[in-house]
Amino acid sequence: MPAASEMRPEPLIFETGQPGRANTYFRDGAPLDEFLPETALRAGLPLPDNSELDVVRHFTRLSQRTFSIDTGFYPLGSCTMKYNPRINEAMAAQPGFRDLHPFAPDALAQGALQVMYELERSLSAIFGMAQFSLNPAAGAHAELAALLIAKAYFRKRDEGRERTTVIVPDTAHGTNPASAAMVGYKVVSLKSYARGRVGIDELKAALGPDTAVCMMTNPNTLGLFEDHILELTEAVHAAGGLMYYDGANANALMGNSRPGDMGFDLMHLNLHKTFSIPHGGGGAGAGPVGVSARLIEFLPVPVVTRDDAGAFHLEFDRPDSIGSMRSFWSNFSHIVRALTYVYANGGEGLTRISQLAVLNANYVRAQVKSFLDTPYDETCRHEFVASAQELKRETGVRALDIAKALLDRGYHAPTIYFPLLVPECLMIEPTETESKETLDAFVASLREIVETAKSDPQKILDAPVNTIVGRIDETRAARQPDLRWEPAKV
Ligand SMILES: *Cc1c(COP(=O)(O)O)cnc(C)c1O
Repeated sequence: MPAASEMRPEPLIFETGQPGRANTYFRDGAPLDEFLPETALRAGLPLPDNSELDVVRHFTRLSQRTFSIDTGFYPLGSCTMKYNPRINEAMAAQPGFRDLHPFAPDALAQGALQVMYELERSLSAIFGMAQFSLNPAAGAHAELAALLIAKAYFRKRDEGRERTTVIVPDTAHGTNPASAAMVGYKVVSLKSYARGRVGIDELKAALGPDTAVCMMTNPNTLGLFEDHILELTEAVHAAGGLMYYDGANANALMGNSRPGDMGFDLMHLNLHKTFSIPHGGGGAGAGPVGVSARLIEFLPVPVVTRDDAGAFHLEFDRPDSIGSMRSFWSNFSHIVRALTYVYANGGEGLTRISQLAVLNANYVRAQVKSFLDTPYDETCRHEFVASAQELKRETGVRALDIAKALLDRGYHAPTIYFPLLVPECLMIEPTETESKETLDAFVASLREIVETAKSDPQKILDAPVNTIVGRIDETRAARQPDLRWEPAKV
């Protein structure tokens, strides 16, 4: 990336060009309404008038200013920003997959249905669930689906009216309580104990006849695997509740342990995290939701099935299903990418991925602890947390300032101020795809930032200086965003 001084702010496409510039492949000067039906025409739309070359340069420049996993290290905790293998893209771009119409009859879409079927079977095997639905479009969307399944289950058992609460430990992902609230459940927050986990006694005290679901992120957002997972699931079951597993970041899990074996009834996965599909910037995701045997009938439709003759079908006829979570069947190209990832790595490869993700996180953690506090200091899983609280006391430099200084050094920032139970938190997830050299360089930058904070804190407080946009008023940007563009008044 060039230094900020060399980068001019990029004007909006609306601010460039001039009337008559647009390349026209039509007869000179012929008005658009000769080619388009009236219904497609809009009056008074201020469309930009640029040459094709200027348009290409504009968007290429913007793309080069975008941080991505293809351009730099992206240790964003709880997001699993790993390399996106190109073979995934090649498979998803196969014309037979890419051009297939979603309404193609099953008989003409056997290959696509087989992909969905085999991914569903693979996920069920890897995570020990009875069946998955590939329907939901993201992690939080799958949480919503899972809670609707829980609701349908209790309604069918005539317990819908009593079971009104969802228990969410303070180490869970923030989307968990939000999803529970959206389904109309009362959220009960559970404080973790000194080792950053859920205590069995605290859980038992929170359980009651009103308990519907306990939602756990495991390994939790501190990167720690629960101490008493079997006792926790048993206690919730004894109270008549269901156990939900947030498996968005399953990078420490694959091939090592299965939520189904731990007694979980519901779980979701983020294919756009663990299964190496590009994400960030809110791009399309895929969040399969998996269930234990007693909940299969409630899964979102369609579910892909195979009949005795070996033919595949989209099955919609499930009277107890919660219905469809989205248009069509899934984000299908992501299903192709995820299955490619599973088959390219195989069972042993996926296990090795998990081992290396854990190794990389611990490699970074073991070095960072020599210059930053690492609360809950023990072997972590796919991620770990550090705290800048002591540094802030000494120097005034906060987690936010460290994050800004990392931008100057060519890194994406880690997740900061989450989980909430760690003050001045930096949450770091390196993933298995990074080399030792990349991890060493990142640790060296982090160390240098902390040292600079101690010798010349203002330097860190002024960061970033190498980016196009420097410090902004974070509160105003969040509370009063003004994202409108209006043409200059002539
Ligand atoms: C990312 C994440 C989610 C939410 O997934 P989206 O696809 O962003 O909706 C939920 N739980 C955990 C643990 C996550 O890391």
